[in-house]
Amino acid sequence: MSAFPDFLPWQHDLASAWLTQRERFAHAWLIHGMPDIGKQRFALAAAASLLCASPIDGLACGQCQDCQWIRSGNHPDLRRIRPDAVAAEEGIAQSADDAAPATSKNPSREIRIDQLRELGSWFNTATHRGGWRVAVLYPARAMNVISANALLKVLEEPPAHTVFLLVADAPDQLLPTLLSRCRRLPLPVPPVQDSLDWLTGQGVDKPADWLAAASQAPLRAWQMAQDREQACPDWVSDLLRLAASNATNPDLGAVADRLEKIAPEVWIDTLQRLFVDLSLARHQLAPRYFPSLQALEPLAARTSSRNVAEISRWLAEQRAVASHPLNTRLFVHAVLQRVIQACQPATVA
Ligand SMILES: [Zn+2]
Repeated sequence: MSAFPDFLPWQHDLASAWLTQRERFAHAWLIHGMPDIGKQRFALAAAASLLCASPIDGLACGQCQDCQWIRSGNHPDLRRIRPDAVAAEEGIAQSADDAAPATSKNPSREIRIDQLRELGSWFNTATHRGGWRVAVLYPARAMNVISANALLKVLEEPPAHTVFLLVADAPDQLLPTLLSRCRRLPLPVPPVQDSLDWLTGQGVDKPADWLAAASQAPLRAWQMAQDREQACPDWVSDLLRLAASNATNPDLGAVADRLEKIAPEVWIDTLQRLFVDLSLARHQLAPRYFPSLQALEPLAARTSSRNVAEISRWLAEQRAVASHPLNTRLFVHAVLQRVIQACQPATVA
């Protein structure tokens, strides 16, 4: 039994306004917006609302026969078209409304052409109560050229009573020909307070820290809070303390030990964010990623803009080559030493 797909709090008003016009609905929509703001959930909740027999303000009632079918994951007029790998991650790969259940050990990361071909027989089956038929396709970028062209053929002669809801981070992830067949529905970034309230409701402690660390994407913030112990890792504060100590050769051992156990792209990404915040602090602006980091301001006051710009550029280069350092320990120490140097007081030339 899967959970009923409902809208996230920041999606309610938009969804309700959009879905109350369902009698004059376009047959293909591209739902797009920043990653991790709940686009896929929006599309699935919209599908439920379109299939509901007695919607309230355009949204699914949660009670009728259709809604019960949705809840149990086997509404005959709903198809989810997504890569087998995504279906497997969702843990509901075998539910009956899959266009193609995942069976292989190495599930595909693409939307396959068979998944679109199989829709043919579905289009030829009468819908329950003569209502809508809804196909939710995500993520749209998982279509290769062949499956995208198969979808284009369908949309060129759309079957009656059928709505396609495509989900993408950005419209340019779709072929232009396909894009021209879709109406666009951009989803805005949720208001910060809505995200914070929702995260609190999900039991996330210090939601502002997580939301900042996730670049304001609430679903990503939630995921990070499940996966990590802290929004701003301990080693960041330790490193800043060392940088502020003015020791010419601070003992980097403890911080290096921590970093050696983390994937380089992850901790380099953290360092890059740290220098974004340092740069903002230099201009008396609020930090973007680590609002709770106390040690940043005194450091920002004394480092030079040139050093911050240089280390930021250098870190970006390191990140590009970081996935397989020849010697992890040497690499970690080299990066940490550069960071410490960049944080030293600007010398008068
Ligand atoms: Zn209903």
